[in-house]
Amino acid sequence: MATQVASSIGSAAANAIGPCQICRSMRQTAQVTFHRNVGMLFARQNITLKATMCKTCLKSKFWEFQGKGLLLGPWGMISLIVTPIYLITNTVSYVSASNKLRHAVE
Ligand SMILES: [Zn+2]
Repeated sequence: MATQVASSIGSAAANAIGPCQICRSMRQTAQVTFHRNVGMLFARQNITLKATMCKTCLKSKFWEFQGKGLLLGPWGMISLIVTPIYLITNTVSYVSASNKLRHAVE
């Protein structure tokens, strides 16, 4: 709840030092949401990661979601449409989060 309030205030809270929810270390963090689709021909599954994370985890989770998204994503009718949308929105989230963390130590 507190993080949602903080992020709506804007960039003032963007460079706050806080615990990274992935590696648990106290770092400069940004909140980011990644999505990927798992296509199973006639079914699909959405995987969402919403976390406050440091620069290192941001990068590794971004590539994990892009890699698995590309590999497991486009196997189905709807999946074929959804996968590129997620790849683009993930890139947008990644770029804006890494902008917030551009002065952070990796
Ligand atoms: Zn981390």
